Formats: sequence, structure tokens, C-alpha cells
Amino acid sequence: KATQRLDKLLAHSGFGTRSEIKALVKKGAVQVNGKVVKDSGIQVNPENEEVSVHGEVLRFREHVYLMLHKPAGVVSATEDNRDRTVLDLIGKEYAHFELFPVGRLDKDTEGLLLLTNDGKLAHQLLSPKKHVPKTYYAKVEGIMDGEDQRAFQKGVELDDGYVTLPAELVILSADLEENRSEIRLILHEGKFHQVKRMVAAAGKKVTYLKRTAMGMLPLDESLPKGGYRELTTEELEGLR
Ligand code: URA
Repeated sequence: KATQRLDKLLAHSGFGTRSEIKALVKKGAVQVNGKVVKDSGIQVNPENEEVSVHGEVLRFREHVYLMLHKPAGVVSATEDNRDRTVLDLIGKEYAHFELFPVGRLDKDTEGLLLLTNDGKLAHQLLSPKKHVPKTYYAKVEGIMDGEDQRAFQKGVELDDGYVTLPAELVILSADLEENRSEIRLILHEGKFHQVKRMVAAAGKKVTYLKRTAMGMLPLDESLPKGGYRELTTEELEGLR
């Protein structure tokens, strides 16, 4: 469908709700092919018609890619009856894009979560065949050691009998006195609660978990918890 209603097109481009857009059009801020239009319900073809708002030509887009610094306490679903979802953190200028999270992080897990409406990219990032590695930082009750490293490198058997793919475990610190350690873990698949269950299989317990990267894309540490931004073109290319 090449043509679309002007108000819908503008809503998808972040110009607010239908009624806000109607007002914007009415006051003469919107031009199609250089002519002011006053009816926000007209059909336009974004592929070959030029739409401008306040004199600025719009570049229409279908897909949006957001990097979210997920805080603990929100669920990675699009709807939930009890809990706040990651979508509740996203501004209404994105409401019309029908974003969804790429994969899941547990409610208490923090860190990098991508939100998009590009089903194809989401599938690629999650497909086990593509092996897009996911990097986690965890605080652990107990001391992770070289034996765990070797076990993780082989693949460990989880509580349900599933044997994981090889995973790289880096021990960042170990505090023998406090009986706790910090690790980085790189997974090549995404089973339910995988980090927590792998650490549990080693007889220890994750007390804090954060995803720090997906593939080549690190979490932008300048984003506060709950903050988000669009991916740059380079970041997006790097994921594809
Ligand atoms: N592994 C987990 O245990 N939890 C997450 O949220 C992600 C990976």
C-alpha cells in the first residue's frame, strides 16, 4: 500500500496524536509537494510525494530501532496485567510504531534490550543459527573458578537436562572473604533464565544480572536506567 492517510503518516513519524496532527495541519504547518494542505485525512504517497512540516522535509521510515537500558522491575513484554512493561518506558512519539522487545530479560535483570518493529531483524538476532552472542555481567554468591570456566566451555547440563552450547566465562573478581565473585558470560543462545541456571548448575547463585552487549553492540553506558535512544546507522549495520 503505497498511499496512506497524511495524519497516520505523521503520527508514525512522531508528530503526536491524530488530534494534535489535525491541529498542526489546520494551522498550515504541513505541505505536500510544496503546497500547504489543510486536511489531515488526505491520501499521500510517501514514496514519491514530498511532505514537510514547518518547512522541514520528512524522511519517512517504516522501522524503528531503540536501545533501552532496562531497569530492574519492568517486564520485557508488550502487555502485562500486573507489572509495568518496557514499553511503558517509551515516549508516546513511538506509540504508533508497535514496537516489541527483541527477546526477553527477566524482570530483575538490567541492561541492553532492543526494541523494534522490524520482525526480520528480531528473528535474525534471536535465531540460534545466527549465533549472535549475548554478553552478561553478573554478581555471584560463591566463587566461580577455573573448573567452572572449563565446564562452561564444554556446555553445562541445566536442571531440565538440557546441555547448553559452549559459553565463555570470564572471572572478573573473586572475594574469598565475602564469598562472592563477578563474572562476564558470553552465551550463543538464549534459554529461559540461562545465566542464572548455568551459575546454579555450578552450585552458585546470581545476585545481580545485567546484559552488556548483543553481538558487536554494547549497551551505551551513558544511558541512565530506563533511558533509551535510537540506534545509529552504524550500530544497525553492525547488527545485520
Ligand atoms: N539469563 C538469565 O538468567 N536471565 C536473563 O534475564 C537473561 C539471561
